[in-house]
Order: sequence, then C-alpha cells, then structure tokens
Amino acid sequence: MQIRLASILESNANGPGLRRVFFSQGCSHGCPDCFNKHTWDFKGGALIDCDEEIQKTIDASYLAGVTFSGGDPFDQPEPFAYIAKKLKEHNINIWSYTGYTWEQLIELSKTNTYIKQLLSNIDVLVDGPFIKELMDENIEWRGSKNQRIILVQESLKQNKVILNKDYK
Ligand code: SF4
Repeated sequence: MQIRLASILESNANGPGLRRVFFSQGCSHGCPDCFNKHTWDFKGGALIDCDEEIQKTIDASYLAGVTFSGGDPFDQPEPFAYIAKKLKEHNINIWSYTGYTWEQLIELSKTNTYIKQLLSNIDVLVDGPFIKELMDENIEWRGSKNQRIILVQESLKQNKVILNKDYK
C-alpha cells in the first residue's frame, strides 16, 4: 500500500506532545486563506510506502502519538485507514485534521467503507475548513473557531458530537 504525502515530520504543534505528523498530499476543500496551498495538488508530493512509515512510527516509542494533517487525510481514506488500523494495534494515540465537518464524514462513511474504517481508529478529530474571519489565536490546536476537537470513539458510540474539553 502506498500513500501520497507532502511530508512527514516530528512536531509539538499538531496535537499534544511530540507527534509524528503525516501531511497528506491533496485537498479538495480550497479554503481561500489556507496556509498549506502546496498540499492541494493530488499529483504533488511523493508516493511513500505505508508499511515502512508504520514501522518507523512504532519504533519511535518516545512519541506521544501521531497526527494526520494535510492536505486532507480524508481525501485519501484508504491508505490512512490502513495506517491507522496498524498503529492502533500498537495502542498509538491518533489525531487527525480534516476540512470536512463531522456531519459530512458520517454521511460519507455510509457509502465509503474506508472513511468508516479511518474514523473507527482515530482518537481525536479536528474538523471543518479554516475560515480566516473566525481565526482566534487563543484557541488550541485549531486555526478558526468553527473547528471542533472531537472525541471520535465516544461520538461514534453516542451518535452525536462529543467535544474534547481538555483544550480551550
Ligand atoms: S482543508 Fe486544510 S489544507 Fe485543505 S484547503 Fe482547507 S486549510 Fe488548506
């Protein structure tokens, strides 16, 4: 299995603790004030072997977890679902960013099994597009106030959005 990525790096800026961040290449949302426009092109970046990166992540036991960012990981649900499942077998904490809203992903997951599988292996989802008018420097882990920090497994169980209240 291969995945198209813009980059992979270790960072403290994409969720709590030092995390290995997979920046997906390709984004369908086109937020006008996006900071990562170089990640929009679905033919850009590079094709990377998933199993190699899974193993490197498992071996980096000092990490607090991984984060999927982009681009939009949910525009490549098959390889991200594959990676998330393998990492979860090792109890690795997984955050993901997406330009889709939670409600859009739930709707898409009814016909796209990879989106369903990806959601089923993610701990936290930061959802929704970046909207410059709603930008707020005082909120954590998000660019704009419309975005939510969602506890994914609790939300799936209760069939409604359960927010992670640990962050302002
Ligand atoms: S979803 Fe993210 S990467 Fe995609 S256009 Fe919006 S801000 Fe940029």
